[in-house]
Amino acid sequence: MAEEKLQRLEIVTPQKKTYSQDIRFVVLPGTEGELGVLPEHAPLVSALKTGLARVHHEGKVLKIAVSGGFAEIRNNKVTVLANAAEREDQIDVERAQAAKERAEQRLSAGGQDIDVIRAEAALKRALNRLKAAGQ
Ligand code: ATP
Repeated sequence: MAEEKLQRLEIVTPQKKTYSQDIRFVVLPGTEGELGVLPEHAPLVSALKTGLARVHHEGKVLKIAVSGGFAEIRNNKVTVLANAAEREDQIDVERAQAAKERAEQRLSAGGQDIDVIRAEAALKRALNRLKAAGQ
């Protein structure tokens, strides 16, 4: 069998390196829509929204919750600089559930004192983490 072409995927945040592997295929949550990247992709920079990265590696699909950032594709390497990123097995489900409830309460309480955009962004991050964790 011919050897599969691979590409390097690095997902880093200001705190840590979340993922670093040679992989076959990744789908990233681009602000303009899902961005599927195969090896030998043309150079590209794209903004990312809060969403799931789906990494196809060794016959499995790994979900990684990405909380916005940027992706750079160059020389067969995909670098994701994310505000935060957690692999599905790293997600603290109770924490995400609590963050979801906090954000929902803020949004439903309304009033002048709440920052709606901030609460909506926190809710999106929490829902995305729950989705990555299969909840
Ligand atoms: P919280 O209100 O629970 O802190 P948040 O969305 O405000 O959630 P972030 O500011 O996006 O949190 O992330 C801060 C750090 O905590 C990052 O390193 C992120 O990876 C980590 N983190 C946040 N929520 C979770 C979670 N549910 N499970 C694991 N790590 C998490």
